[in-house]
Amino acid sequence: MGQIKLNAERILKEVPFGVELVAAAKTRTAEEILEAAAGGVKIIGENYVQEASSVFAVIGRAVKWHFIGHLQKNKVKTAVEIFDMIETVDSSALAGEIDKRARAIGKVMPVLIEINSGREEQKSGVLPEDAAGLIREISAFTGIRVAGLMTMGPLAGDAEDSRPYFIETRKAFEGIRAAGISGVEMKYLSMGMTNSYKVAIEEGANLVRIGTAIFGERK
Ligand SMILES: *Cc1c(COP(=O)(O)O)cnc(C)c1O
Repeated sequence: MGQIKLNAERILKEVPFGVELVAAAKTRTAEEILEAAAGGVKIIGENYVQEASSVFAVIGRAVKWHFIGHLQKNKVKTAVEIFDMIETVDSSALAGEIDKRARAIGKVMPVLIEINSGREEQKSGVLPEDAAGLIREISAFTGIRVAGLMTMGPLAGDAEDSRPYFIETRKAFEGIRAAGISGVEMKYLSMGMTNSYKVAIEEGANLVRIGTAIFGERK
């Protein structure tokens, strides 16, 4: 056991009580993921269903699995079997497909709504002001349960540049929570990566997705 375990232990010590760590594990091997788990990581984030399938085959339910990538319709069936949460729902069509596939296997899938807080045209996610409408639309689906919001924000070199996007997402989160939509529990606010998680936590994140600081630079 080496650096990955030490990194995980250090970050887990550093994040405040009530903030959960998702180790963002794209491109990492099962061995690397198990080392993070040995350091105390409880949740693994994966961006690709196929890659998740192969590490899941080795690791199984020793950790929780969050989907944090862009989910294609033809991958939903497998995703619903593997993942404990899908953080990146951004349309009623995708929510409907997850709902259908989850009901077929008797599962209720917790989902987060992905917010395009940077209002970037090429990025996935819904605009902050459209989140409540989408949530109302899908709140009656019995195979999913909306549990909060997720955002990436524009890529930024400096963490402070991310702060306005985190603030806007938190405001949307609080507004939706205050609306008290039936069947919706606004519990998770997933924001912040290696370079920005401290700012994200200051702005209310209680789920942070960290890759590089745990596993090292991606090759
Ligand atoms: C890769 C990734 C992260 C983690 O990024 P790092 O900068 O390596 O910490 C977080 N969220 C998502 C959606 C990612 O794809």
